[in-house]
Amino acid sequence: MPRTIFEHMSALCRQSGAINLGQGFPDGTPPPELIAAAQRALAERSSQYPPSVGIPELRSAVCDFYARRQGLSLDPAQVVVTSGGTEALAAAILALVSEGDEVILFQPAYDAYAPLVRRAGGVPVMIPLAPPDWRYPLDRLEAAISPRTRVLILNDPLNPAGTGASEAELGGIAALCAAHRLTAICDEVWEEVRFDGVPHRSLLSFPGMAERTVKIGSAGKIFGLTGWKVGWIIAGAELAAGIARAHQFLTFTTPPALQWAVAEGLALPDAWFAAQRTGWAASRERLRTALAGAGYVVLPNAATWFLCADLAASGIPLDDRTFSDRAVAEAGVATIPLSALFEGAEAPASIVRFCYSKPDLVLDDAARRLACFREALC
Ligand code: PMP
Repeated sequence: MPRTIFEHMSALCRQSGAINLGQGFPDGTPPPELIAAAQRALAERSSQYPPSVGIPELRSAVCDFYARRQGLSLDPAQVVVTSGGTEALAAAILALVSEGDEVILFQPAYDAYAPLVRRAGGVPVMIPLAPPDWRYPLDRLEAAISPRTRVLILNDPLNPAGTGASEAELGGIAALCAAHRLTAICDEVWEEVRFDGVPHRSLLSFPGMAERTVKIGSAGKIFGLTGWKVGWIIAGAELAAGIARAHQFLTFTTPPALQWAVAEGLALPDAWFAAQRTGWAASRERLRTALAGAGYVVLPNAATWFLCADLAASGIPLDDRTFSDRAVAEAGVATIPLSALFEGAEAPASIVRFCYSKPDLVLDDAARRLACFREALC
């Protein structure tokens, strides 16, 4: 099994004391409402095994949340609580992919997808997206579908690119899934971290997709609590029951106090989520301005906690991996080289990702270091 680029860069940071703009997690104060709710749950509620599919209160809260935020009409029987988005992916892939099945992945692909597909006996079929706007090539998708294709994995909004699929792209992908009877695993963990003013729309809501979509969400991203590892899958009741069978032999369940706290958190008012987003948007703008001021060409961004810069366009004569290795050692700033999230010849070699969900002083310090580093290189 490969070691993930995120763990690799974070380990280098821990060794060297560099600023970690590599792995995606917020460094600020966690939401006090959720910390208080978890403390209360630990003190007052059971710490024993909750139901494998999740506590009923969280399953209902997930349905209410998506009814309010995305206009979806769901039943708690369609929700299985998992230990983060990662376990949701593993359970969905194990439930849906058998030996020899082909699974379509768009690249850049979150690093867990291909190893999990291979573990299940499946064969990843890669479709590369191209910078700077990372649009979905529907003709190439159609050409990649074979009689052995069973599943397509879509990550929208897309980490690491920080872009969102358009309505037309989603409609095109949905039509192809329906026509070829594919199941779509939609990794939507970034659904609440978007800044383009476009309401998030799940593939689940497109015609013909309700019964063939597995939607994945994560409280780690919705509340900026990445270490909690509370996530969920949503699917038609029959599909959800099949995935619940896989989940029972992975983690079986998820810490109950955190489930209670997330259930309370999902019921926070819309204004709370708007304020959180405003805070993230300010950090995003702060780092974007500082990087641009230092001569980095920052790619268009609509979502996620990440900004990408094009090194070649920024006049930096290094490929992305060399830049990331040298930036952590020489500038004391960790970044993620995007080619680490590609397989095959079509990987762009010139894009690096910066995580901006950090306090202002950390962003300013990192930007100063990156400015000096670029100056020394150019
Ligand atoms: N999918 C994507 C696209 C992600 O970015 C992440 C986390 N970085 C995950 C899944 C995993 O989510 P979790 O931390 O809830 O396991």
